[in-house]
Amino acid sequence: MSVDLHTHTVHSDGTTTPSENAALAAAAGLTGLALTDHDTTAGWAEAAEACARHGLDFVPGIELSAEDHEHSVHLLGYWVDAEDPALAAECARLRAERESRADRILELLADLGVHVDSAAVRTHAAGAPIGRPHIAAAMVDAGIVPDIGAAFDRYLADGGPAWYPKHALAPEDGVRLITSAGGAAVLAHPGTDATRVVETTALVRRLRDVGLSGVEAEHAGHGPATVAYWTDVARGHGLLVTGSSDFHGERKDVRLGAATTPAGVVAALAERAGRAMAPVTAGGRVRW
Ligand code: AMP
Ligand code: ZN
Ligand code: FE
Ligand code: FE
Repeated sequence: MSVDLHTHTVHSDGTTTPSENAALAAAAGLTGLALTDHDTTAGWAEAAEACARHGLDFVPGIELSAEDHEHSVHLLGYWVDAEDPALAAECARLRAERESRADRILELLADLGVHVDSAAVRTHAAGAPIGRPHIAAAMVDAGIVPDIGAAFDRYLADGGPAWYPKHALAPEDGVRLITSAGGAAVLAHPGTDATRVVETTALVRRLRDVGLSGVEAEHAGHGPATVAYWTDVARGHGLLVTGSSDFHGERKDVRLGAATTPAGVVAALAERAGRAMAPVTAGGRVRW
């Protein structure tokens, strides 16, 4: 009775299709799956159908980028209305600005003497909103770096030599956008930046005050102490604790289902989004 609440597909910077994510979730013995591509809901329809085929509950989600004092903060929005005008407009803007940002990053790389072909990056993105993993993948192909992690470490990481900030919301505005669109908002991977524990802890309180529902304490990238710390912070603020793999297919070294959220927590999250949910049954099905 567990759900992987944060996975990516080819509709953003993952390498698998929504149907493949559903098949992987079923193979991992999960009872449900969320799709949370960056800035788009394009994968939802296929995922919903594939989940139904596998007898999995589908949780529609999106991952939005926000920025707090020049540090990136990711927000997960579940059950948002994809047609909500404000949300749709913001997503369109986020997607468009990723195009110009990718060009800026390629210019910064060129200034460093590293020449990455724009067409190769676009081929990796294949029409999806361009993210740094697409640039990293093109760099691996060109033999510039041995793997995607090295591309981030040497060039692309936040604050790195070829980093260029992307248009991002204030985190409070991101939470409001999600909740106004009928969704439940969760702060993604709070422990990713270990140098910002104090600031991120303060951010949890700020976001709770504008409607945050949960904290992704059990992100697969968090070590045990990090999970324990953010679980305490979430509980201390009366927020739900979610868990996920943040699966990106071959672009990240994590398997789908590596971390999950109990079905009961998913039901509570749905309730926060105002979705009608049947009680969790002995069969373990979560409905909304
Ligand atoms: P962007 O949307 O362009 O800001 O890129 C963010 C994506 O890059 C996230 O989805 C992460 O999965 C990925 N990412 C961030 N840091 C790293 C890293 N150090 N190694 C590999 N992938 C990373
Ligand atoms: Zn990503
Ligand atoms: Fe993220
Ligand atoms: Fe993610």
